[in-house]
Amino acid sequence: MKYLSNDYEVIQVDGKRMLLHRYIMELHLGRKLQTKEIVHHINGNKLSNGLSNLEVLTDVREHQAKHRVLREEIKQRNSWKTYDKKIYDDKNSGMSDIDLVTKYGISSSVITRIVERYKTNEK
Ligand SMILES: [Zn+2]
Repeated sequence: MKYLSNDYEVIQVDGKRMLLHRYIMELHLGRKLQTKEIVHHINGNKLSNGLSNLEVLTDVREHQAKHRVLREEIKQRNSWKTYDKKIYDDKNSGMSDIDLVTKYGISSSVITRIVERYKTNEK
């Protein structure tokens, strides 16, 4: 049974409650973390506490900046998905490649690639 605090795993070390990801990082660094230092979960999964998923950031500001970048990346990916879906739907509704080329201003080989990408990402 895992003990969680704010979605983070908690363990007992010498009778003291500690966040597991911070404990793992302290063992790795061989020193105590400063209170302001933040251990960030790279893939966003707070329960994935492998060292390769953990990164020490100097403070809250750096952490916020990190998450801002991540949000931006997700937004970008979603807008690409929307674009791919439009082309995919048009193609599926029977629109010809010539019409697609005219409508989107991209070559038919790019259209083919986008349709393939959309199919792959939908899985
Ligand atoms: Zn984080």
